[in-house]
Amino acid sequence: YCKVNGRNSRLFYTPKMNKMYNDILLMEGEIRKALYHNDFELYYQPQINVHTGEVIGLEALIRWYHKEKGYIPPSEFIPLAEECGLITQIGEWVIRKACNQHVIWIEKGFKPIRIAVNVSAIELQRFDFANKVAVIMEETNMDPAYLELEITENSVMRNTEDCIKTMNALRDMGVSLSIDDFGTGYSSFGYLRKFPINFLKIDQSFVKNVLAESSNAEIIKAMIQLAHTFGLKVVAEGVEEQEVLDLLQKQQCDYYQGYFFSKPIPPDKLEQLLFGSQPV
Ligand code: C2E
Ligand code: CA
Ligand code: CA
Ligand code: CA
Repeated sequence: YCKVNGRNSRLFYTPKMNKMYNDILLMEGEIRKALYHNDFELYYQPQINVHTGEVIGLEALIRWYHKEKGYIPPSEFIPLAEECGLITQIGEWVIRKACNQHVIWIEKGFKPIRIAVNVSAIELQRFDFANKVAVIMEETNMDPAYLELEITENSVMRNTEDCIKTMNALRDMGVSLSIDDFGTGYSSFGYLRKFPINFLKIDQSFVKNVLAESSNAEIIKAMIQLAHTFGLKVVAEGVEEQEVLDLLQKQQCDYYQGYFFSKPIPPDKLEQLLFGSQPV
């Protein structure tokens, strides 16, 4: 892989490995170009209060429409970017873009809304991460109270001490933190107490087939109750049907996200959806 070996070490690979290695190198080059030419975009997916139907936040999700290859999903290029270190640049771009967008919406007169940004484990583990976030907020004029960072539980478990330091620094700056994909990783409830987090996002794998599998409903219920005893708000991901929303309502889930309300959409579509064309 790109950073582990010197470039010449590919001479020792088998032809098949050589092709894989070349594919990664090609993709690395494409990601670099995309950063340089500003080819990435951010789409936004609303988060809704389960009980009132009010939109309480947005999750920013990166999009890449490649001129020749067409749409390349983040599940394809984010892991590669993590592998070759470019995730740091992508991550900075994403945070800056989301902050800029937030400020643009305020300038247009829209009611301020919290924006959640995904942070990769690699970014979180950099010693200067919290500082980077502070600099970006300063540069963009972003109010930290409206920035939320989503991190996966595994990313914190890998390097707990340093990560908690970073999380505390972010929290002190006024940034909110959420645990993403909850239930898919180590799933230790112990850290809910230790970590300075505000939100818990229940992974869509539990939510999607909750109607078919009653055990999932029990799991979700337990997660919500436990999160609440720790003072956390719960976001259910991947809500696609009314029946699922009804169930979440019964279980006292706080917020949801999913195709049922809206897919992730570009900023202009979001403006139409949330604000009409009129500033509030
Ligand atoms: P995630 O953070 O768990 O994001 C949720 C994913 O579920 C998104 O896929 C979203 O489009 C999709 N989704 C939302 N509602 C529904 C639904 O009702 N049904 C279904 N089937 N899917 C739904 P997306 O945008 O393809 O992103 C995939 C993953 O890529 C994300 O998972 C996240 O881990 C990563 N990712 C996306 N954007 C970024 C980014 O800016 N930075 C980093 N580091 N990772 C990102
Ligand atoms: Ca997420
Ligand atoms: Ca998630
Ligand atoms: Ca995920």
